[in-house]
Amino acid sequence: MPTIAFDNSYARDLPQHATPWQPAAPRAPSLLYWNAALAQELGLDTTALAAETLAAQFSGAQLPDGAQPVAQAYAGHQFGGFSPSLGDGRALLLGEVIDRRGQRRDIAFKGSGRTPFSRRGDGKAAVAPMLRELIIGEALQALGIPTTRALAVVATGEEVYRETTLPGAVLTRVAASHIRVGTFQYFAARGEYEQLKALADYTIARHYPAPAAAANPYLALLQGVCAAQAQLIAQWMHVGFIHGVMNTDNMTLSGESIDFGPCAFMDDYDPDTVFSSIDSQGRYAYGNQPWIAQWNLARLAETLLPLIAPDDPASAVPAATEIVEGFAQQYLQHWRVQGYRKLALPPQDGPGLLEDWLALLAAQAADHTLAWRYLADAVAGDAARLRTQFAAPAALDGWLASWRQQLAAGGLAPDEVAAALRAANPLYIPRNHLVEEALAAASDHGDMAPTRQLLAVLAQPFNERAGLERYTQPAPAALMTGYRTF
Ligand code: AMP
Ligand code: MG
Ligand code: MG
Repeated sequence: MPTIAFDNSYARDLPQHATPWQPAAPRAPSLLYWNAALAQELGLDTTALAAETLAAQFSGAQLPDGAQPVAQAYAGHQFGGFSPSLGDGRALLLGEVIDRRGQRRDIAFKGSGRTPFSRRGDGKAAVAPMLRELIIGEALQALGIPTTRALAVVATGEEVYRETTLPGAVLTRVAASHIRVGTFQYFAARGEYEQLKALADYTIARHYPAPAAAANPYLALLQGVCAAQAQLIAQWMHVGFIHGVMNTDNMTLSGESIDFGPCAFMDDYDPDTVFSSIDSQGRYAYGNQPWIAQWNLARLAETLLPLIAPDDPASAVPAATEIVEGFAQQYLQHWRVQGYRKLALPPQDGPGLLEDWLALLAAQAADHTLAWRYLADAVAGDAARLRTQFAAPAALDGWLASWRQQLAAGGLAPDEVAAALRAANPLYIPRNHLVEEALAAASDHGDMAPTRQLLAVLAQPFNERAGLERYTQPAPAALMTGYRTF
């Protein structure tokens, strides 16, 4: 029996979108990480496999039976500039599986060698960034945020040349699909109407089956993607997640987080926060993310015009524009509902307690995660821990009084409110210094223990456990001054 019951619908249904290609065989693959829980969720038959077999099958040394690796074509706006041909320059889609819930999921390699899309790149990936992708993906997943996830990370035993020499790795990624805004842009930019239509029809069937029945399925597709992204970005914002590279090729149609390369979680609340070493203009700063998402969705909308109105694409502009403009309202609505849930209050329209709270956090450089989390102590009156997060805690008093007044009107007992707050506000996030520490141990010494420990902590972000204090503390300021991710 094969390890994976592959289906290969993308390669089969959209052959013009996918170039058959083989991964490079690594010199000495060794398994760094295997996601047994995810393997089980996918229904993979891997429990009996030795680590060496997993390392071989999930690195390109010996493909699992039924894999049909293809490099997917896509284009994209990178930092606002359009590249008509990006594509899988260091990735390959092996195929899909139907998971235990009946969902189709992609299984793909990243770092598996050069492809026809590699341009000047080496097709490789280094251990540290692949482990970052693993850690952040698992953290987002545990926080209830749609995301691609790592099934395996295998060290290749080879060196990768960046600014210095680094150990190489292949990451096996699981995704609802790898269809990106940039995938649509690729065929739209070439004026390949039939290919664009085939892609849209495939996407609708796979992710948005309801639009197939809609009066105009392509308009409904745009609506569906806008709705999914509005919810996703609101979720990012409420955990302080900064994607780092929200190029259109790094935005999925499915609504999952993807390709969060130089991403980071924010420490002190500041909407201008940027960590990415390549984002010198701050285009993808924390506070810009909703509007960048909308900009990306406008690029998607442009590609769909000829499908929405084949005889006269320009005539589709008003309807498509209305949907993209509606994203702002949808986003704000999700943001308010989720934000008030974090205050244990029913959502309010218009600026109110939520905005006032964030203004306080910004003014006082409070740690975003801890300020929210410690609200739970403050319900019954013990605001001591909360106050430690504020430079001038007296500024909190007025806000706390209003908040408690509104909570009292809700009629819940204080311990019920505190429990609701703890369920909505995580204590454990992948703090930058902890992530760096884990990546360095793995990359410099092949020591995966810190990564494993961090993953175990992040698997239950809302559940406070004894002995994990160091995982809750903000990084020492000196460590994080000028901190940049790669
Ligand atoms: P990313 O910045 O990882 O989202 O990738 C942007 C584009 O560059 C995609 O087309 C990637 O496939 C390509 N790319 C990134 N790194 C490499 C690499 N080391 N070798 C070849 N292509 C790459
Ligand atoms: Mg990418
Ligand atoms: Mg602070």
